[in-house]
Amino acid sequence: MAPLVKYTTLFINNQWVDAKSGKTFETFSPNDGSVIARVSEGDKADIDLAVSAAKAAFHRNSEWRLLDASARGRLLNKFAELVERDIQYLGELESYNNGMVLGMAVGIVQKSINGARYAASLADKIQGDTIPADGDLFSYTLKQPVGVCGLILPWNAPILMFINKVCTALAAGCTVVVKPAEQTPLTSLALAALLKEAGVPAGVVNVVTGFGPGAGTSLTHHPDVAKISFTGSLEVGKHIQQAAGKTNLKRVTLELGGKSPLVIMNDADLKLAVPFAARGVFGNQGQMCFAASRLFVQSGIYEQFVEEAVEFAKNIKVGNPVDPGVEHGPQVDREMMAKVLGYIEKGKQEGAKLMCGGKRIGSTGYFIEPTVFVDVQDDMIIAREEIFGPVQSIFKFETLDEVIERANNTNYGLASGIFTNNINNALHFARHVEAGNVWINTYLASTAQTPFGGFKDSGVGREKGIDCVDEYLEVKTVTISLQKEF
Ligand code: ADP
Repeated sequence: MAPLVKYTTLFINNQWVDAKSGKTFETFSPNDGSVIARVSEGDKADIDLAVSAAKAAFHRNSEWRLLDASARGRLLNKFAELVERDIQYLGELESYNNGMVLGMAVGIVQKSINGARYAASLADKIQGDTIPADGDLFSYTLKQPVGVCGLILPWNAPILMFINKVCTALAAGCTVVVKPAEQTPLTSLALAALLKEAGVPAGVVNVVTGFGPGAGTSLTHHPDVAKISFTGSLEVGKHIQQAAGKTNLKRVTLELGGKSPLVIMNDADLKLAVPFAARGVFGNQGQMCFAASRLFVQSGIYEQFVEEAVEFAKNIKVGNPVDPGVEHGPQVDREMMAKVLGYIEKGKQEGAKLMCGGKRIGSTGYFIEPTVFVDVQDDMIIAREEIFGPVQSIFKFETLDEVIERANNTNYGLASGIFTNNINNALHFARHVEAGNVWINTYLASTAQTPFGGFKDSGVGREKGIDCVDEYLEVKTVTISLQKEF
């Protein structure tokens, strides 16, 4: 049975309100293309209201600013408890609106809860330094919240993104306006209701559903927004970085795409490497910024690896994402499905060898077969551009230094991995690969405690990890004269 959709309007100042224009848009189930609900289409007028609510809540005499930092932490822990109470419902709603396999959706909500608790634990540990400055001076630093933050979310892991960004910003003492992706607005609204239930004061968290051009651009251009944190495509990330400098100088954190290399050495344990490589690119139907979309396999095991990888891909169970046992659901919408199928065609045209998959499944819903290409060359389009779909591209290599060079031959630098039993080779790779994350004999292993972000065009700044709140703080230096007499 479809989960109940309780909230479909904007959330501003702890109130549920329609868009000023009265406009709404349809949100769909990618499993069968059916309309789930009509959701308010926020625009500039609504962003203005939301930012003004967030600005008022950020005022130095507001209930929020007067709260002890430890009380902010307790509020976030209360929120985490409520998310845990509703974990099954939230997982179902995510799966319904996004197409994520239910087990994975619930698992990701659990991960998000860990993230919320981690952020909660940081709220009262925001400390500056005492600095023995030159001369008769003594300095100390204060770390203070940057102000109103615009949080722009992608559709591929909406709950995880909402919770990570909102809880980190709130732990720092900021107030926020969230703009969920137009494809997946529902779980952000459900989470806003839980923040209100947890006791977060009015105006601290606002959610404006709507489109990128419209709600998104109004947020990035708003002069009262001090910071934008965005997760999404490189193309939009570039627009956001430019917009962020137009009306005022906004701080930006950008977590963008990737074309992440995973290297399998001759001495790798294939029982581990084959499933990790498959989940690394087929998980969430390949709709992961850190997908292992360039799989480099050393020549000594290439044939055997390919055979096992193809067998693995063929046996992935595709179906309705809420059905037990299903491992692979639909792409998020018709547009993304068409884009991925277009890349598969380009791969075939450029001469990559299609070993399995490659087609749409059925005619309702947006399903694509798990697809494996071999003999992929570095200059092919499928080797260079982010596909964001279930397409495993396998490349052959001879030596470690050669593969490091090829791995780095991309404008992206989000994630990377290596499977080997030789510690020296693993550490050599870790040292020289240009990526924000390196996984050794594992893949996709990211937790609340570990920083996440990209080199090069994969982003700016880091999320998660002990320094994550710094992205939402300003450093103020206070200097005192220690002269005895004036
Ligand atoms: P994808 O390409 O994966 O669909 P996008 O990067 O286009 O993802 O979108 C991610 C988020 O950015 C969504 O919330 C979307 O509405 C928003 N967005 C898209 N374009 C803009 C823009 N020009 N300014 C601000 N936000 C935008």
